[in-house]
Amino acid sequence: MKPILCLLITILCLAAHPLFAQDIPRVRQTIDTLTGPYFHGRGYIFEGDARAATYIQDRFTQAGLKPIGESYFQEFTMPVNRVTESPELTINGRNLTPGTDFVASANTASGKGKASIVYLDTLVFNNAATAQKFFSQDFRKKAIVYPQNFRKQVQELPAPYLQKILSAKLHIILQPKELLTTVAASPAPVPILEVKKTAWPADAKKIKYKITTHHEPTYKTRNVIGFIPGTTQPDSFIIFTAHYDHLGGQGKAVYFPGANDNASGTAMLLELAEHYSKPENKPKYSIAFITFAAEEAGLLGSLHYTQNPLSPLQQIRFLVNLDLLGTGDDGMMVVNGSIHPTEFELLKSINSKYNYLPQLKMRGRAANSDHYPFSERGVPAFFFYTLGGTTAYHNTQDKSQQLPLTKFREVFKLITDFAADLQL
Ligand SMILES: [Zn+2]
Repeated sequence: MKPILCLLITILCLAAHPLFAQDIPRVRQTIDTLTGPYFHGRGYIFEGDARAATYIQDRFTQAGLKPIGESYFQEFTMPVNRVTESPELTINGRNLTPGTDFVASANTASGKGKASIVYLDTLVFNNAATAQKFFSQDFRKKAIVYPQNFRKQVQELPAPYLQKILSAKLHIILQPKELLTTVAASPAPVPILEVKKTAWPADAKKIKYKITTHHEPTYKTRNVIGFIPGTTQPDSFIIFTAHYDHLGGQGKAVYFPGANDNASGTAMLLELAEHYSKPENKPKYSIAFITFAAEEAGLLGSLHYTQNPLSPLQQIRFLVNLDLLGTGDDGMMVVNGSIHPTEFELLKSINSKYNYLPQLKMRGRAANSDHYPFSERGVPAFFFYTLGGTTAYHNTQDKSQQLPLTKFREVFKLITDFAADLQL
């Protein structure tokens, strides 16, 4: 059978079967799209976040969601340190590959040139004589190399030593395992590269590097919000949230796809939007769908929303935040499970009745995703993330191809059953 025809039949069968109310090929398509080069990591350069917001707006429109107010967009500004060109690093004449062997640290300053290597020894932190000798050197033509676990100790050095170490041309931080990056609001006073330990040659002596950044104090981004009015209780809201942003990229050659984090949760939210838009699933209460920007920059999108809500926060009966839903071999974590025991018990009873997930774990408050600013303002909220499977996180390996979507369908069923049984 021709692949297209085969795919078409699969899609038709899945759509016709009530068990597959949400459509896994479409979910995969959503995640493939959001992690593609056009969106460039959904943040901060080459309009990645703006393009993703437009894509979500189009999906909201197709699903028939209504905007709250005049537009689906809620704009705000944030400070961000952007790495605008792919970083370059040559060690002993050999080029390392950006994104694979190394990345620029999120808070790097710009810089370029040549430097010789000096290693920071652990004795510098606990032997006064060694420290004094070490810091008497001239670092201005040096690249200082130290492991990730020294980072905090470096920041806590006594002021004169810290000043000295910041006079170096470059800092190189060796990552013991995978590269792990983030988003920073502003640059450090020195250029910083993060290199995978396995890519760092033991005989490294001379390096050449180039890092180009731009600090934007008022970068404009946007949350995307749509809703379905309730048929009998329109003033009561259930809210589904997911951040659509990720870490963006470093120039043209490097971007962070963010398949699990959080194309997976965005895809789940879009499936829920499709589901509740169907005439047979129209909800009694209103359901709002919020995809946040700038979660990776420190929950800035959700913080902005809670400070500027489009409908009163008191009307939110429950909020479910979806972030990292691409696995599930080991079940799912329910953040705030211990704070809302009645709702957690409800989830557990549904889960054991239908055997959706191998286990539901719970934890208390955690400022680890967009539910948090709502929780802090008294909105009852859970944050779901699946457990097990891929470990790719905050690097170039969080790709769609490696995301198994093991329990995506089951999580979808659990969420819709939970929303149906919630006592509002
Ligand atoms: Zn993240």
